[in-house]
Amino acid sequence: MRGFYLFSGGIVLGLLVAVAWGFAVSRQPAAEDTQSTFAGLPIRSDDGHLGVLVLGAHPDDCEIRAGGTSIMWSDRGHHVKFVSLTNGDIGHWQMAGGPLAKRRFAETQEAAKILGVTSEVLDIHDGELVPSLDNRKIVTRLIRQWNADIVIGHRPNDYHPDHRYTGVLMQDSAYMAAVPFLCPDTPPLKKNPVFLYSYDRFQLPTPFRPDIVVSIDSVIERKADALAKMESQFVEGGALGGPHRLPKNDEEHAAAIERVREGFKRRAARIADSCRDKLIELYGEDEGRAVKYAEAFEVCEYGRQPTKEEMRKLFPFIGQDGNRRG
Ligand SMILES: [Zn+2]
Repeated sequence: MRGFYLFSGGIVLGLLVAVAWGFAVSRQPAAEDTQSTFAGLPIRSDDGHLGVLVLGAHPDDCEIRAGGTSIMWSDRGHHVKFVSLTNGDIGHWQMAGGPLAKRRFAETQEAAKILGVTSEVLDIHDGELVPSLDNRKIVTRLIRQWNADIVIGHRPNDYHPDHRYTGVLMQDSAYMAAVPFLCPDTPPLKKNPVFLYSYDRFQLPTPFRPDIVVSIDSVIERKADALAKMESQFVEGGALGGPHRLPKNDEEHAAAIERVREGFKRRAARIADSCRDKLIELYGEDEGRAVKYAEAFEVCEYGRQPTKEEMRKLFPFIGQDGNRRG
């Protein structure tokens, strides 16, 4: 019994020390230009570079839909953050739960290194994302903490409920990000971001409208490399794969990686072809026709509505010889 009391006493003492330490840390004066939330989370300081927040439902959606454009931003010193709103823990035919969530988190970090972005995965179960008030607050805080100029997410018309609700949560936050007394622990943005939908092929109630189409020719190999790191999905087939997808030796593995890379290149080529008119409008006749690989975005009618001139600042690599320079 005495041992128990000593043990409990130790825990209480430990907690007191931890609380005191936490208090000391939270009392440290912040650097003058650093804003933080009441909870002590940093606000990305405004250093003259853009802040881009990409919201995906699963640990691969941001990479698929905005990986190439993100490289082009990050190569120019802009700050790109990917957030997967779910942890992807049912996205495999053979494994699930914590081990799969950990594996997929590791894949996002591998991809992030190649893309030059920061990548976060929220611990919400895959297949269970709902547009709740709690989740609206989470997304609102994420937008504010990243001091976002641009937020990208799914359209709310999509085959997958998690994709749909990611789109709804982005829409729900598009106004709320600027309202100071929602989540008053996180200062509202001075300027409402531009919200963009990423490309999809769903037709109802309205098809995707390519307002911005980015040539990713100069970075397509890096995008393909990043996606090839997500083997649980693209080598092994994700939720609907099967044992036939598991490579049996190094040779089969190398062939599978090559198939993944080529598959994503074909996908980007299809986007370029289906958005050719817009590419010509943005890049000019010759360059627009020559673009092989693209990513495309639609401006959400909530949030800031950018002028053409502002759009050029947000996508500085369009129309400034960015296609050739890389
Ligand atoms: Zn997804």
